[in-house]
Amino acid sequence: MFDSKSISILNNALNHLEKGFSGLPDFELILNTESLNETLIEVAERLKDNFPYFHPLYAGQMLKPPHPIARLAYMLALWINPNNHALDGGRASSAMEKEAVVNIAAMFGWDKFLGHLTSGGTMANLEALWISKKLHPEKMVVASEQAHYTHNRISEVLKLDFESVPCDYQARMDLEGLERILKTGKVGTVVATLGTTGVGSLDPLPEILELRKKYEFRVHVDSAYGGYFTLVDNLNEYCREVYDAITHVDSIVIDPHKHGLQPYGCGCVLFNDPDVGRFYKHDSPYTYFSSSDLHLGEISLECSRAGASAVALWATQRLYPMNKGGEFASNLAKSRSAALDLYNRLKCDSRFLTILEPDLDIVVWAPKAEKISQISQLSQEMFDLCAEHDLHLAVFNYPTNLLEGLWRNIVVDQNTVTCLRSCLIKPEHQDWMDQIWQIMDKVIDSMIPRSS
Ligand SMILES: *Cc1c(COP(=O)(O)O)cnc(C)c1O
Repeated sequence: MFDSKSISILNNALNHLEKGFSGLPDFELILNTESLNETLIEVAERLKDNFPYFHPLYAGQMLKPPHPIARLAYMLALWINPNNHALDGGRASSAMEKEAVVNIAAMFGWDKFLGHLTSGGTMANLEALWISKKLHPEKMVVASEQAHYTHNRISEVLKLDFESVPCDYQARMDLEGLERILKTGKVGTVVATLGTTGVGSLDPLPEILELRKKYEFRVHVDSAYGGYFTLVDNLNEYCREVYDAITHVDSIVIDPHKHGLQPYGCGCVLFNDPDVGRFYKHDSPYTYFSSSDLHLGEISLECSRAGASAVALWATQRLYPMNKGGEFASNLAKSRSAALDLYNRLKCDSRFLTILEPDLDIVVWAPKAEKISQISQLSQEMFDLCAEHDLHLAVFNYPTNLLEGLWRNIVVDQNTVTCLRSCLIKPEHQDWMDQIWQIMDKVIDSMIPRSS
């Protein structure tokens, strides 16, 4: 299941890299390979204690290993261990970061922008809202109820007021609810989530942008999870229009370490107006001596950052360019078709309740029962039983007020319902859907007899 051919490819590339420094006097690191070996075997032993994130039967949270090219490029870079704070610390990897970020911006139709990689989506969102605070120090941030909880916390850190906007029954930001808050004149930034972490719903971005004709506010898009889906050819019409509107927003966050095939430690923030770079200005006494070119540390809140992350992302983009119709895009489209496949199987099965047709590749459902409390219990039971059969799903609490009109004749005796949730984040999920469904079918059969 684990490829080991890639180790010899790494060895080749390592020899090649070493030649770049062949003019230097030779020296050798003294290593005790025996104790290295012993320790590493101990590490392998410890790492066995994991869910099989790499396997198609892991279909729970947003987890998967990076693509081999990202893993190899990252490891290769570790022999240098560049730091993308200043050019002195990582010349090649800083250039590669700038190129990789240009490609991400181009995916959203931006050629003039300011942007860089971050350690992840949280940090990237923090920077976007920090700029909002610089521009509108007295105004608040709003995001939907289904937005990532990080926006509320970041607002707390930045000492910005924060308010949640209710969602409609499709788990998207409710426009009337938004306008009610906008009318107060207190909103500085609206966070539109494209791909909520829970159910993968997309907020109605075109209509949110339309509201800017009446009210003045910044629009920040949190597409940490969903950003790359702008490339796929199997979105519904609503989602296509949402993605096409991105080009008009003020800032965007996307996580290459979610759908961009990267190891953890790779987020990205982009600003439409390069002039916001002025807020990052600082005079470091330590760094920035080598060149008058832009140092990434001059436009980033984080100081030291892994150059290896940029190298891995650059290599991945090189092998899989982010074109509509390319291999990267078609693999992503497979995740979405796997989700539609699972959704349709669930919808046609009287033993299950579904909530939403997925906007992206996340499916949420529950076993049917008379009361919300029973449904919650059955979800938990199905989660455990599936895991016993090597199918790893996730559970998710969904507010029952968003189910009004969707689940009829069910007694609402709790404010939230525990559902099952599956992020079909690997392209292999498409071909494995029969096996996944077989396990679900067997498990639900043992819990609820098929009616008639
Ligand atoms: C994952 C996620 C985040 C947080 O990003 P990290 O990379 O986990 O720090 C923020 N917003 C959304 C929509 C996400 O899916």
